[in-house]
Amino acid sequence: MKTLDAPKNLTRNVLIGMGSGVLIASIFYYFQTTIPSDFFQIIEKYVFNLGGQVFKNLLLLIVVPLVFFSLVSGISSLSNMVKLGSIATKTVGLYLLTTGIAVSLALFFGWIFNLSGYEGEVDAYVPTQGSADLYETVLRIFPNNIFGAFVENNMLGIVFISILFGIALNLTDDLTGGLSKNFERLNIVFLKIVLLIMSFAPVGVFCLIGSYVMAKGLNVFGDLAQYVLVLVFVLVFHLTFTYSLILKVFANLNPFKFFKKMRNVALFAFSTSSSAATIPVTLKTVSDDLGVKKDVASFVVPVGATINMDGTAIMQGLATMFIASTVGVDLSLTQYGQIILLAMVTSIGTAAVPSAGTVTLALILGSVGLPLDAIGLILAVDRILDMIRTSVNVCGDAAVSCIVAKSENELDENMFNK
Ligand code: ASP
Repeated sequence: MKTLDAPKNLTRNVLIGMGSGVLIASIFYYFQTTIPSDFFQIIEKYVFNLGGQVFKNLLLLIVVPLVFFSLVSGISSLSNMVKLGSIATKTVGLYLLTTGIAVSLALFFGWIFNLSGYEGEVDAYVPTQGSADLYETVLRIFPNNIFGAFVENNMLGIVFISILFGIALNLTDDLTGGLSKNFERLNIVFLKIVLLIMSFAPVGVFCLIGSYVMAKGLNVFGDLAQYVLVLVFVLVFHLTFTYSLILKVFANLNPFKFFKKMRNVALFAFSTSSSAATIPVTLKTVSDDLGVKKDVASFVVPVGATINMDGTAIMQGLATMFIASTVGVDLSLTQYGQIILLAMVTSIGTAAVPSAGTVTLALILGSVGLPLDAIGLILAVDRILDMIRTSVNVCGDAAVSCIVAKSENELDENMFNK
């Protein structure tokens, strides 16, 4: 039987793509004055920007059908519906827990390292789209138009519709002559599309990374070295320490095996800066390499990409401290508590697309009475930080998938340990 294998040497080729993207784009960027400006702009626009955007579109275009068919076929094969409730409760509980830990760690390390503010001028902040408050987020789960939810890429709504459809399909399988089998077949077709798209990943990543470097060169840290360093430290700490701990404590799983298998997912998240665009790769890795059964993976991964953003919560915690210190405000203990709760809630409402976390940061700043203008400062270094925190976000989704699967007896441990 033919299997659905990932393209050969994917990690190596993606790394080569990334490295050469940085190299070639840097040459263009730093030798700009010696290159005719028309030529520079054509390369920037038609090679790097266009190539990167096409690759990202290809990933995004498959997300909605992939989530729909994998969730429907996962749920329609469940033998009892109580299980679905139990999977959902554990998933949401673990997501809230890890996000709470993430933002608490951010505030703790911000305090330990005595994070100080910025002394130069601050650009004005122009809010863009990408956030929703709790009221809107809940309403998005229950859309009033099935097709509207699909067209708008409303992931929470799509998850809800898929669950409803999957349950109905499950309960009527005898009456429909085993219709659920056809959804499983279609799911395989969409998985194949993911693999076909992934074979272009090295080129796609080359263009994406190149487009960032062409715009700003390699000076991604600007003047905010302390903020950047503390943030990267906490992101790496949460990634390696917290996830290893919960994998070990809640599921007795070997974290090294986990991280080894997550390389590709992290690289995709890093280059696309979008948890949503990474869903196809996360789903594939979680079920085919980490051994999480389809009914768990197809629910936990897309829901996680939408509501679980530990890396984003870490950024928001530290950015709030940093901005408070910049404008000379001493945060009280109550305000720290408020930041933790708000970061947990806003990470649910943050869209899984590039820079969305800086938009919901405005909600937190507003709630603790800090000026929104100061976000302009953070934006200067946000490109690279967004790439790193998105990798943390998706690793959190995958870790929780393994834990939920293990507790439901839905983890193939031989596959996990292979
Ligand atoms: N880019 C992040 C993600 O997609 C969200 C953010 O923090 O801006 O997970």
